[in-house]
Amino acid sequence: MTAPVLPGWTQTYAGKVRNLYVPDSTPAGEEITELHGEVMLVVASDRISAYDHVLSPAIPDKGTVLTQLSLWWFAQLAGTVADHVVSTIVPDDVDGRAMICRRLEMFPVECVARGYLTGSGLAEYHHSGAVTGIALAPGLVDGSRLPEPIFTPATKAELGAHDQNITFDATVELVGPETAHRLRELTLDVYRRAEAITAERGLILADTKLEFGLDADDQITLADEVLTPDSSRFWPADAWSPGKTQPSFDKQYVRDWLTSPASGWSRTSDAPPPPLPDHVVARTRDRYLEVYRRITGNELDL
Ligand code: ATP
Ligand code: MG
Repeated sequence: MTAPVLPGWTQTYAGKVRNLYVPDSTPAGEEITELHGEVMLVVASDRISAYDHVLSPAIPDKGTVLTQLSLWWFAQLAGTVADHVVSTIVPDDVDGRAMICRRLEMFPVECVARGYLTGSGLAEYHHSGAVTGIALAPGLVDGSRLPEPIFTPATKAELGAHDQNITFDATVELVGPETAHRLRELTLDVYRRAEAITAERGLILADTKLEFGLDADDQITLADEVLTPDSSRFWPADAWSPGKTQPSFDKQYVRDWLTSPASGWSRTSDAPPPPLPDHVVARTRDRYLEVYRRITGNELDL
């Protein structure tokens, strides 16, 4: 899927999910005029990725869910951390799925908080009894609640590769001790605040990945998307039962189909995954809309 051409904006990057643009001339609109050159437009497409592949077809309205849910969370977190949002007044073609943000100098670290053990954290624990160097008690299983949330940073992989979990010491090497401590503190603060909110809605926030950068005044600022099903694992609290894969609001439905015999695809093959059948697309779209409804308490205005 190609990125929309937006008059006044030049596309500078296409990620697996988002397309980034910078203003190429002074855009219309009072608010953003004075920020010319220091802002960018972040557009969430409907693309979905799983197992490091971008899948087809796209999931209709997914980009709008990601953007609107991120905006809702940025508002909830306003007292906790500064964020990159400048304006939601964006070109009509991408209305609802885009935001104008401050362009930050991003830290080369994915800031992950985990309150529960699963995914790459569980794999590491099985291997070494620790996650990113943090030793955990023996006997934990898939879905176990940790005694307290932990900061488990990772390095951002190049397109098509897995993110690599790294220790806190390695994070210090990358960004310096002061920033590393601050990133850990902020990541855990965001996790705790968000977890308290989702708990009231009957959802467990198992883990979440945040990205931070520095603004023009060297302030550490929360960027990218936040607390969406693409960056976080949400589990219905009433179905939580450690010891197995938890039913999840993330891409579990897509992943389950891809790894089932029905798809005819193997994770270990070099072949790209097959197109998603209509029912998988429809069910996945429902899950994204449902998580928006569950968290915000509102129906998404599409
Ligand atoms: P993936 O998330 O699938 O691993 P990706 O991160 O390369 O891949 P996207 O999430 O689609 O791709 O693209 C968003 C990009 O924009 C990321 O590289 C992210 O670090 C960057 N980004 C987000 N917010 C800002 C910001 N305020 N300033 C600068 N870069 C940002
Ligand atoms: Mg990303």
